[in-house]
This record gives sequence, C-alpha cells and structure tokens, in this order.
Amino acid sequence: MLWRFQKLKNRTLAMENKIAIAIHGGAGEDSEFIRRNLGVYKAGLREAVLAGYKILQNRGTALDAVTAAVVSMEDNYLFNAGKGSALNIEGNVAMDAAVMDGKDIRAGAIALLSHAKNPVEVAKAVMVQTNHVLLAGEAADDFAESMKLPQKEQSYFKTEHQQEEYEKAKADSVSQALKKKNRGTVGAVALDGYGNLAAATSTGGMPGKLAGRLGDSCIIGAGCYANNHTCAVSGTGDGELLITHVIAHSIAMVVELKGLSLQQACDYVVHKKNAEIEGDIGVVSVDRNGNIGMAFNSERMHRAWMDRNGNVQSEIY
Ligand code: ASP
Repeated sequence: MLWRFQKLKNRTLAMENKIAIAIHGGAGEDSEFIRRNLGVYKAGLREAVLAGYKILQNRGTALDAVTAAVVSMEDNYLFNAGKGSALNIEGNVAMDAAVMDGKDIRAGAIALLSHAKNPVEVAKAVMVQTNHVLLAGEAADDFAESMKLPQKEQSYFKTEHQQEEYEKAKADSVSQALKKKNRGTVGAVALDGYGNLAAATSTGGMPGKLAGRLGDSCIIGAGCYANNHTCAVSGTGDGELLITHVIAHSIAMVVELKGLSLQQACDYVVHKKNAEIEGDIGVVSVDRNGNIGMAFNSERMHRAWMDRNGNVQSEIY
C-alpha cells in the first residue's frame, strides 16, 4: 500500500516538472563521408535521443538518461566514441569521457581508455563508486574491469572509416593532421522530472592525435558541466580550445551572472566572447526550465532533441 502511494507520489512529482533532452554527435567540417551517410547519421541521432527520453518519461534520472543516449552513440560505428573511435598516431584507440550530475555537483571522468566498450559507463562508475573525479590510462581500464563493465579488444573499436582517417593523418605531418576537422564526439544533456540536470560527453578524440593526449571531453568545465542552479552543457570541437576557454562552465557562468537566456548564453560564448579564436566549438545545453540551447561555429554539428510536443528533431548543418 505504502509502496503504491510512493509510486503515485513519484509519478505526480515527475509530471509536475518538465523533462528535456538534447544530444550532439560532434562538430567540425563537412565531409564526403557525412554527406553519403546523412540518413544513417540522422537515424543514429534519433535512436540515441529516444533512448534517453524513454528513461525520462519513465521517471528515470537525468544522469541515467544522458548515459543511455551516449551509450547508444558509443555503440554506433558512425560516431567517434566507443566503437568507431578515432585512432591516435600509433594506430590505437584512446577514449575520453565524463559525466556530471547537476543535483549534487558530482562528476566522474576517464581518459585514454583502450578496452572499455562504453567509456561513459566507466566515467559514471568513477563518480558513483570512488571518491575521485578522473582516472586515466591502463589503470582506468583495470578499474572498468574490476567494475565488471564490458571490455573489448582494440579490433572491436577500429572501423574502416577511422582506419582510412588514420592513414590520411599518418601521411600528413602531426601538425597538419591536428588542423583537420574530421573529428567528432558525442554528448547529451537532460532535465529529469525531479528538476535535476545532467551532462555526459564521450570521444575517441582526433585522428592522428599524439599518444597520451587527452581532450576536453573528460575535463569537467571544458567539455562537460552540469549544475541544477544554471544548466547542463556538453561540448565538442577543438578540445584544446574548449579546455583553454573553459567553454562548458563559461556558459553556466553567463547564465548565472549575465542573466541571459540559455540560447543567448550559448550564442554569446560561442559567437561573441570567443569570436576571435580560430577553431571549432559546439555545445548543446539544457536548463532547469527545460529550455534547450545550442550553438556551433563549424560547418556542421550533428544534433537532436525532443521538442515541446515530444517529437524528435535532428539537424546536421
Ligand atoms: N573535443 C574532442 C576532442 O578534442 C573532439 C571533437 O569534439 O571533435 O577530443
């Protein structure tokens, strides 16, 4: 009886609050590969946003919703995260990911993973199971194994497309390869029925990156940030720039201190405050009122969201 009452109470709680979710599948240059695969990319975005939305509809948490959306894209060979990750200069996959819970300002992140099937799940385990925020390298893979999270051989992650990107990167000098914008990352932000925000980001980084390089996706405040008082943000683009310009946290600060709407804050940080920087920046974000904000300065940013009528919307350009 008590249990039934609690269930009813939870349902009412969930109904009182708006739910919202937005995702991205990476910002950067347009390419022949993207043009050829537009339909499947959109289908992948749709699947991912629905994976998260279903959790929110069933009164799940924003943290679980963003994790599910990112897992869906990590498992999709088209996106540069999990299966389909970019290869570093040594021809290996080295993945970064982070999650943040805006409810209690807790975060978990991993860097340079080479065997965990779903890096975002490992990041979440770091947050939930340890007192740390960021684990890196072989020890992070060992941690994932100790948590009984699925492991894969490197061959699982390496797709034909990324192998080709790697060959091209190898033919260029390292600096030339790093200038190319054929990267990608995946990310999600959500507001749950309890009024909590969360963000998650996961990437294979850029093809031909130096061994040991980690990007913004695993750096809290750069490529991932969530705080119930402001917003949740997931970033993509030139990792080094997102780190040095502290992009995700900047958006939250603009919302808090400048009193702009979320969309205005995204536009301000991407197009105005950082207008001078030469590089790609893209963000998706959501606030505690369920408003969604997105901005990018690149040719494309794969993205999808649920509109106010519960329909999936997706765009690439
Ligand atoms: N931000 C990612 C990184 O630098 C790459 C990307 O989003 O395209 O690792």
